Amino acid sequence: MRGAALALIAAALLSLGVERPDGLGDVAEVRHWSYDDYTRVVVELDRSVAPEVHRLPAGPGRRERLYLDLGGIWVGRRFEEPIPVDDGLLHAIRLGQNTLQRTRVVIDLERYDRHRLLLLSSPPRVVVDVFGARTRRASLAVGDPFRPPSELRPVRTVVIDPGHGGRDPGAIGVGGLREKDVTLRLSRALRDRLEERGFRVVTTRDDDRTLSLEERTAIAEGAGGDVFVSLHANAARRRSAHGIETYYLDSTHERHTLRLAALESGVESKHLDELQRTLASLRVSAASDQSASLASEVHRALVTGLRAQWRDVADLGVKQGPFYVLFLSSMPAILVEAGFLTNGPEARRLGNREYIERTAERIAEGIARYRTRHDSRLAGEAS
Ligand SMILES: [Zn+2]
Repeated sequence: MRGAALALIAAALLSLGVERPDGLGDVAEVRHWSYDDYTRVVVELDRSVAPEVHRLPAGPGRRERLYLDLGGIWVGRRFEEPIPVDDGLLHAIRLGQNTLQRTRVVIDLERYDRHRLLLLSSPPRVVVDVFGARTRRASLAVGDPFRPPSELRPVRTVVIDPGHGGRDPGAIGVGGLREKDVTLRLSRALRDRLEERGFRVVTTRDDDRTLSLEERTAIAEGAGGDVFVSLHANAARRRSAHGIETYYLDSTHERHTLRLAALESGVESKHLDELQRTLASLRVSAASDQSASLASEVHRALVTGLRAQWRDVADLGVKQGPFYVLFLSSMPAILVEAGFLTNGPEARRLGNREYIERTAERIAEGIARYRTRHDSRLAGEAS
């Protein structure tokens, strides 16, 4: 009741033309996109907030809805009119000054299975993804047009994800070499090599910043990536361990698929219903055949290319990995471990410009070979 009373008071004060209190942040923009299985709502702010999403059931004259309160944010009466969505999943988005110190965002629902909340920085954004079976197919005029699934679209955009960064240095190797620095250097070199080959390239970071795994996957999906490559360098207690390994997601691993569904819905695995399990496993397995072939092309190009110059480079193989970063991605995704920072000779190489350049060149070659195979198969199917 307290909330309702405060909202009434806020509305009354606003109607009296009460001025905005000092020291509050603003809503910069509200956007939404309709994808085939979810709708994304993005509220851009000029300061970060830490809201929670609450769900309210439908009542007399009121739709089922989600709401979240943005503390310290002023919106005034800017969004007095609801923002219509009407894509068969969301009805509308409303923003209002709930108290003088707090903006409330309300998402009126047509359908609802589950949601996902992401908090992104620079600029600060609150992202709410609402998943559910649409009452109808969303109109192409709403947000971005539908993208075909990854197996049916040509390979154009590569998302490079340099591992770690900011407060997370990753592995610390021989001579104090930090994984986050190695992955960033490798990322920049790889971007150049891919752009030379005509790829569009997006990186999850291009400086020394902290990024959550959710942010990395949100950047990748927001950029419309066709391929996702996460770059890392290895570490082992055994100092003699050395070599190159490449990972992709194991789709046959029921536990991982369940974890994907659980992560997205914020519930424990055991509480997921059959439908959710099926959907999660379908989403992962569609991209995982492509991930396996991308991993093998990149790995082969990398190992054979490096061995031409450094004959002792060990081939640790292509592996199926339980990597969280690979889970949320709706595009083929791999993770390259470009050598061991804990091995003396390999750490020296990873700190060496020539090795980084060569590694980047070979990864780019592997991705280009994957593109050739993928796109020619697509062309064959189309004719
Ligand atoms: Zn790492």
